[in-house]
Amino acid sequence: MIIDEILRPTNHSTVPETINKFIKISFKIHNGFKLLKVYGKVEDGAKAEIMGWVLSIREQKTVSFVIIVDNRKQVQLVINNTKLLKHIRQNSVIGASGTLKKTSKAPGGFEIHVNEVRVISKVKKDPPFNIMTKDLPSIDLRLDNRALDLRRPYNLDLFTIRAALIRSIREYLYSKGFLEVNTPKIIASASEGGAALFPLMYYDKQAFLAQSPQLYKEELTMPFERVFEIGPIFRAEPSRTLKHLSESVSLDVEAAFFTNDDLMNLIDGLVRNSLSDIWKSSSDLLVRIKAPKLGLPERLSRFTYGQIIDWLGKNDRKINFGDDLGQKDLELFGSHVNDFYFITEWPIKLKPFYIQPKDNEVTFSFDLMYRELELSSGGERVHDPSILRKNLKAAGLPVKSFRHHLIPYYYGMPPHGGFGMGVERLLMTITGADNIREVSLYPRDVRRLSP
Ligand code: ATP
Ligand code: MG
Repeated sequence: MIIDEILRPTNHSTVPETINKFIKISFKIHNGFKLLKVYGKVEDGAKAEIMGWVLSIREQKTVSFVIIVDNRKQVQLVINNTKLLKHIRQNSVIGASGTLKKTSKAPGGFEIHVNEVRVISKVKKDPPFNIMTKDLPSIDLRLDNRALDLRRPYNLDLFTIRAALIRSIREYLYSKGFLEVNTPKIIASASEGGAALFPLMYYDKQAFLAQSPQLYKEELTMPFERVFEIGPIFRAEPSRTLKHLSESVSLDVEAAFFTNDDLMNLIDGLVRNSLSDIWKSSSDLLVRIKAPKLGLPERLSRFTYGQIIDWLGKNDRKINFGDDLGQKDLELFGSHVNDFYFITEWPIKLKPFYIQPKDNEVTFSFDLMYRELELSSGGERVHDPSILRKNLKAAGLPVKSFRHHLIPYYYGMPPHGGFGMGVERLLMTITGADNIREVSLYPRDVRRLSP
């Protein structure tokens, strides 16, 4: 009998009767919900049942191998009955039962020799590409069919690593006494200057999507001292590059009484800890997706902006003090360093109004780089309201729109500092992905708004 329906049990009792009979108690094991059930020890001859998506079918003369994916893990089924095989198509959801056999040749170290198969959700039509193909279809075709594309083994691994990374960052910051917060994503005015914002209608008023939690996280250092947020930022990036999204996820950190040095030390520890955590928890996945092994020096190098333009000048790229470093400059210097590093002491004119000057030329600021890719920007902030007002005016920003933001600065704003780090940029570095769209589930860019 073929059961043609999608199975979404929320608890044991809601499992349809027919399937319940077949799968028996598969839905409850001590580790929570899991579709693989082995009766007794994982040893040859044990009875096993599984449900999952058919990833691939490899037919041979007398025996066929079917790989199914269960809870992001691959399990190999061995089928030597052609009648059973007849019902199995790639991408269908099936249930199978049989006996377990240990083998180093199968993923996970065992396979199931099948004697019963159920088709639970049958594929209705052939997908536009084979998820097991070695010749990757264009990124646009894949993104148009993203849920299917995400079933490719590479993506199952990649987004599992992404989750492990975010979890590790979160735990690290908790361990350092930071409070996780959420700040508004609908804001009243084009607050920071710099990046272009997405306007929207908020009832009868004009509003915008937040380009960063900057001003809120700074204010929050007054009540909470140390805060962080992992959330979306929206930027109307005008061009389509390999490292910009219109909606990306940012790790934003802000801390009272942190100096520039404290912040860079925190990032140094955070990057080190994240890399070590994910290589501990997900090394098999990282190896499978061929992630580069990023070695870290004792301490991440720090170069001032001044040192870098001097170096570039000696290497035939003249930069005037105060000019931004372009892609070509960063490629040249980045390949020279060939690692993570900080660029510190950026000129005042290249930094936003809230960055603390060091003297009348440069600021207490830094960017974390990996080769030519910027991963994070941060620094100490101005906490004196009169300087903040002066800077706003100098930047040509309407002081009136910052009325609410300035209030806490009159009531005991602590000296503070922080940074914003692009989660997708960090993930690109860790996985070796060359296009930021690969590491976002549903990327948004100047041309793409769906799915
Ligand atoms: P870039 O110069 O690369 O455009 P930025 O200096 O404008 O970046 P910041 O405002 O410093 O960006 O934001 C902090 C971090 O957020 C960046 O270092 C980067 O990792 C990430 N980020 C910023 N904009 C984007 C974007 N459009 N897409 C993905 N990540 C971004
Ligand atoms: Mg920046």
